[in-house]
Amino acid sequence: MVQKMVREFAQKEVSPVIKECDRQQQMAEFVLPRMSELGILGICLPLKYGGQGMDYIALGLACEELEVVDTSLRVVMSVHVGLNSMALFQWATEEQKQRFLTPQAQGKKIACFGLTEPGAGSDVSAIVSTARREGEEYVLNGEKMWISLATKAHHCLWVGRTNPKAADSHEGLSAFLVELDRTGVTTGDIHGKLGVRAGSTGWIAFQDVHVPVINRIGEEGEGFKIAMSCLDNGRYTVASGATGLIRACLEASIRYAKERHAFGREIARMQLVQQKIAKMVQSYEMARLLYLRVGWMKNQGLRNTRETSLAKWFATDASNEAANEAVQIHGAYGYSDEYDVERYLRNSKGAVIYEGTSEIHQLLQAGYALGFRTDVPLRRELPAYDPIVWSG
Ligand SMILES: Cc1cc2nc3c(=O)[nH]c(=O)nc-3n(C[C@H](O)[C@H](O)[C@H](O)COP(=O)(O)OP(=O)(O)OC[C@H]3O[C@@H](n4cnc5c(N)ncnc54)[C@H](O)[C@@H]3O)c2cc1C
Repeated sequence: MVQKMVREFAQKEVSPVIKECDRQQQMAEFVLPRMSELGILGICLPLKYGGQGMDYIALGLACEELEVVDTSLRVVMSVHVGLNSMALFQWATEEQKQRFLTPQAQGKKIACFGLTEPGAGSDVSAIVSTARREGEEYVLNGEKMWISLATKAHHCLWVGRTNPKAADSHEGLSAFLVELDRTGVTTGDIHGKLGVRAGSTGWIAFQDVHVPVINRIGEEGEGFKIAMSCLDNGRYTVASGATGLIRACLEASIRYAKERHAFGREIARMQLVQQKIAKMVQSYEMARLLYLRVGWMKNQGLRNTRETSLAKWFATDASNEAANEAVQIHGAYGYSDEYDVERYLRNSKGAVIYEGTSEIHQLLQAGYALGFRTDVPLRRELPAYDPIVWSG
């Protein structure tokens, strides 16, 4: 039912306007209010916190359906649900959940995630934004770059440095939930992106932004661990979404290969075209199994950092390859925006960069395989799915 509902929304409401939104580099105004109305923005969170009471697999299925139509729809889920709301669900106090998580899960407040800075991407320890404690407040300063929904969001889960002198620079970071209407906050959009043009990506600058201590998520010094656990959830949405993109490439390629004729027969009869389609089938099935395994592990309350990284790395590389081959199958027509596949190719590139570049995921996987890396239990883990708790 979730899949059908999300599919109908994406296919019937967004698909007819997506090409124009992509051309105009604008997110359609109805997208966020409609996703909120349909409950998609709180899909895997308990009813108690304004969510829909579904499990984590439902989140993956929704992301797959959204990205079949456009990556920008899934990006909303990655930042609003995966990187922000699920982190609050995992790390926030009860009071913070009531105050920040509930309106987010209800879709009344839109949420984003501010980790990356102009000089700190893959290397989170290079973050220079600061959070200085002054009595019962913190004063936040710094600039975040490449932030999805920067100009649309009401809340930002923001990571800055509380202890510049920490021996290990990772341990000097802390996380805050910041309302973006506070004095000292400015935001802007980034224009001229290669892909995700129907989505919103921008920057957020803080100049002496005062927040009360209740806005700090977790303990002082836990910011790095919180940020990494956010990525365990965000990467799951990216993996499931990229699976949807592979499906979109496959469906478009099959359609075109049966329409287009060359050398007296449909190009679907050419073995080299068939090889590309077979590879897309293989990639889709593998990506789907990898993300469903992660969804199942989250439901069980099992740590899934390694499996999530693998699912994200595989699905995003495979979707980039599938989109490239889909353009090839379309020949010159794939090179124009008359067909969707050129948008798929541009959109697929972002996902091999954000939420851990493919190189970073290769380092992670090698680290696990070689025994250089193990996961230690967190002070707070993402709660295992429990249908009674979720619907209570
Ligand atoms: C469309 C889009 C949306 C985004 N949304 C968000 C968001 O909502 N919130 C947010 O915080 N960030 C967001 N980002 C930022 C994204 O997470 C970063 O771009 C990403 O982490 C990579 O950082 P970087 O761009 O600074 O690249 P860098 O870290 O500078 O890397 C540059 C190159 O060097 C390679 N490299 C770096 N370190 C190593 C290493 N140790 N070994 C081998 N190779 C290495 C990388 O793989 C890459 O190829 C977004 C980015 C994009 C493009």
